Amino acid sequence: MAGEHLIILGPPGAGKGTQAVKLARELGLKHLSTGDLLREAISRGTELGRRAEDFLERGVLVPDGIIIDLIADELLSLKDGWILDGFPRTLPQAEALTEMLSRNGESIDFVLQIEVDPEIVVKRSVNRRICNSCGALYNLSTLKENEGSCEKCGGKLVRRVDDEEDTIRHRLEVYKEQTAPVVDYYRRNGEVITVDGAGEINEITAEFIRAIT
Ligand code: AMP
Repeated sequence: MAGEHLIILGPPGAGKGTQAVKLARELGLKHLSTGDLLREAISRGTELGRRAEDFLERGVLVPDGIIIDLIADELLSLKDGWILDGFPRTLPQAEALTEMLSRNGESIDFVLQIEVDPEIVVKRSVNRRICNSCGALYNLSTLKENEGSCEKCGGKLVRRVDDEEDTIRHRLEVYKEQTAPVVDYYRRNGEVITVDGAGEINEITAEFIRAIT
C-alpha cells in the first residue's frame, strides 16, 4: 500500500487527526498534518510560527500562500505514500496540490471524508486535550481522573486555544464556507469516500480501510 496518496477531509473536531494517525499506521503511510506543523512552528518560535500564530488563535485560516509553500516543502522530501490531514482547506490549495502532483505525473488516490453533526463537533472539541509535547490527541470523557499526562511521551495534556466553544463555532462556519467546496471539487474529479463520524473510532477506521483496499 506504500506509495498511496490520501486526503482526509471533515469539519474541525470530526476526528480527522485521530483517523489520519490510525490509517497512516495501518497502511504504512506518512501522516502530514498542517495543523500539527503549524503548532510545532509556533511552539519553536520559527518565522513560520510567528506568521501563523494569530490566525490559529482566532480560528481562521492561515493565508493560502504560506500553507501551499509549507506543504510543497514537506511533500518534496517524501518518497513514499502519505495521508494529508487538514490540507487542502480551500479551493486554491486543492488546485495547487493537483498542480504540484501532476508535475511529477502523480495524483490523489483516495479522498476520505468524515461527516458529522456540528453539535457533536462542539461537544467533542470542548472535551479535547492535546499533548503539548508530541501532539497526541485525547478526550476528557475517556481519560481517567488522574491522567493529566500523555501515555506516549509523558508530556502535559492541554486544551488547544482554538477549542473554546465560540472559536469552534467560528471554525465550523469557516469550514462550511471555505472547505466544503473542496469536497465538491474532489467529487467532480473522482470518488470521495464518506463515513459517518458519529460512530466508534475503530469502526470508522475499518470502514475506510474496507473502502480503499
Ligand atoms: P487543525 O489542527 O487541522 O484543526 O488546524 C488548526 C488551525 O491551523 C486551523 O484552524 C487554521 O488556523 C490552521 N490551518 C491548518 N491547516 C490549514 C490549511 N490547510 N489552510 C489554512 N489554515 C490551516
